[in-house]
Amino acid sequence: MKSIVLGYPRIGEKRELKRAIENYWKKSISSEELLETAKQLRMKNWMLQSDYGIDLISSNDFSLYDQMLDMCITLGCIPERFSGIEGLDQYFAMARGLQNENIDATAMEMTKWFDTNYHYIVPEFIKDQSFNLNAEKILQEIREAKSVGVEAKPVLIGPITFLLLGKKKGDGFNRLELLPFLLPIYQELFNLIAEEGVEYVQIDEPILATDLTSEQQAAVKKTYGYFAENKSRLKIILANYFDCFGENLSLALELPVEVLHLDLIRCQLQLDDILSHPLFNGNKILSLGVVDGRNVWKNDFKRSLRLIEKAKKKLSKDRIWVGTSCSLLHSPINLESEIGSDRLNPQIERWLAFAVQKLQEVVQLRDLASGSFDDRLYSILEQNKRDLQNKQDSELIHDQNVKQRVRALTDNDSQRKSPFIKRQKEHRKTLNLPILPTTTIGSFPQTKEVRIFRRKFKNNEISQEEYDAFLLNETKEAIKFQEDVGLDVLVHGEFERNDMVEYFGERLNGFAFTQFGWVQSYGTRCVKPPIIFGDVARPEPMTVKWSAIAQSLTDKPVKGMLTGPVTILQWSFVRNDQPRSVTCNQIALAIRDEVNDLEEAGIKVIQIDEPAIREGLPLRRMDWEVYLDWAIRAFRISASSVADDTQIHTHMCYSEFNDILQKIAEMDADVITIETSRSKMELLQAFVDFKYPNEIGPGVYDIHSPRVPSESEMEKLLLRASELIPVENLWVNPDCGLKTRDWPETKAALVNLVGSAKKMRERILQFS
Ligand code: GLN
Ligand code: ZN
Repeated sequence: MKSIVLGYPRIGEKRELKRAIENYWKKSISSEELLETAKQLRMKNWMLQSDYGIDLISSNDFSLYDQMLDMCITLGCIPERFSGIEGLDQYFAMARGLQNENIDATAMEMTKWFDTNYHYIVPEFIKDQSFNLNAEKILQEIREAKSVGVEAKPVLIGPITFLLLGKKKGDGFNRLELLPFLLPIYQELFNLIAEEGVEYVQIDEPILATDLTSEQQAAVKKTYGYFAENKSRLKIILANYFDCFGENLSLALELPVEVLHLDLIRCQLQLDDILSHPLFNGNKILSLGVVDGRNVWKNDFKRSLRLIEKAKKKLSKDRIWVGTSCSLLHSPINLESEIGSDRLNPQIERWLAFAVQKLQEVVQLRDLASGSFDDRLYSILEQNKRDLQNKQDSELIHDQNVKQRVRALTDNDSQRKSPFIKRQKEHRKTLNLPILPTTTIGSFPQTKEVRIFRRKFKNNEISQEEYDAFLLNETKEAIKFQEDVGLDVLVHGEFERNDMVEYFGERLNGFAFTQFGWVQSYGTRCVKPPIIFGDVARPEPMTVKWSAIAQSLTDKPVKGMLTGPVTILQWSFVRNDQPRSVTCNQIALAIRDEVNDLEEAGIKVIQIDEPAIREGLPLRRMDWEVYLDWAIRAFRISASSVADDTQIHTHMCYSEFNDILQKIAEMDADVITIETSRSKMELLQAFVDFKYPNEIGPGVYDIHSPRVPSESEMEKLLLRASELIPVENLWVNPDCGLKTRDWPETKAALVNLVGSAKKMRERILQFS
């Protein structure tokens, strides 16, 4: 039996990679220094995995930004607008856009990787797209691994996943038509990899966890048939994860590959299906993903061993591998970093396993399942049982009061008092906003200073009074700035918040936090998801203080700013001992209480952010309905207690809405702001087709890039939007919060944004 890890986190235990890359962007280190840091991190990761005894260790799981972007480079799929730029500069320009005297290239689109909170760069394809191989990175990593004694298996995104996650630019072709041009490039790559003496290559095709059309299935078959025909000496591990093979199971079983990897966390039942399937002839190796790559709980060895035992009944041991369910990219790195910090309760620590600990679990499971039981293994198994029992029985977890409130929820609790039309009239009376009201999504730049003050406060280096005085000053300046540029609905700026989920989690019961539990979100952005371990309750108001202060500084309405229950759930590590829907309702009740308190404090506009609703969708359509029903209901529970004249906003970013608009409309928010600038309002079309009834703010400013959009550029987007949506229902705003930006570009962009709204208002006056 072998142990396999599908991929390892690349950011470094203390986010060394983030620092290095950002320093490179600031030109405070050279490209050589950046590449050296990157190399050291890779070496460390390989040696670590090899020290733990992992048999199949990945290479090419490292990336300076994103693995899909890397694949674009490997396959020579580089959009024309980046053609004048070279090397690392080109790479980062593709990710982030580039603007200087000679060039003005917008970044490639970014979107969520399946149902995770990781974002990938979306490949772009044109008609007659050509590809060419650039194998350097992949070959170099194989050699580097070898230099520390690791015979790595390179990980590649498979051709079908690559094509289907990419986007067509222009019409007159179908992405799969590009396959014949792509396959020889992969084959060439395999040949070069094989020349390095590599035995296995891991091809990730998580697209197999989604519904495929018969045409797409045929493409899968063709692809792997082609690879088998042109057989290099390489053996293929075909990795599917995040859900079952589902309708693609027969197809997968027939593919001429040596190893099939299964995610037995997300889809436990498929193991039985496969073992009893007529097409499963036992000459494939099964790689059993029993250690959860996406959650933080200690593995339940008894459960895992039961699964492995099943496989052992049908397969010889050398045809069974034991591994992680998916790449550990989605796990925090090392629980040991937490020891001695007062962030994490030691009792909870006992229930957890991060990436490093998961390496150990994989190896222990391999050894436990391999048979020869000795005292050491026996005590490992016993200890595991005791740890799990300790969690189950813990008083930290259970709050009868909360359980009771969730049970008592009725339909009334998720229903606003009047329909939207009536509420809209009330808002027009009380808020008195111009046509095309301007607003922002909540956060303003989290400058170095803001972060330093927060850190000092956390480390008890400054008092609560000093910290509050600082925050007050920031908030005052933000309010003044917004009044000066002429925004209509203001925000307080979120200076007191580290992160939109962590901030709330820290104020709710049932949440635990780590000090170093970072997980990559996109590029150099990392998040530290809270761990929901117990019943959720709100001991006291969480946001009222700063919202009320901000409102006291201006006559314009200031939006209260909350994170919605689905997003808090989705961006946390969740309990695995009760359904997600129950946890979500518990959070919804806490937010509902907060909404009530804000309203009472005189806040007339309240935004409940739900950027994660879309990504929470199950990968298969047949599971959507159930999820959407409880998710939308949870949002409504959080938003529905207010009076008619209180305006509820919601905000979502990076979402394809087309197929769930019915449900988005059912959220019944008075205003929804969405991300549309990079796609040039394409996303808006869905709202038009659906005749979305409520108000809507399509983003006109791409906040993921430091580039400052001009007034006329945003005016054009607004013009486009006004052709699609009745102007009385239209808002003007950026795509998302501005916390990752700096003040100079933020100011310049918002001046232009307000300017573009004014121009549009003039236009409308002229034509009405
Ligand atoms: N209100 C949040 C902010 O502005 C929303 C962030 C988000 O949608 N990701 O930062
Ligand atoms: Zn957003």
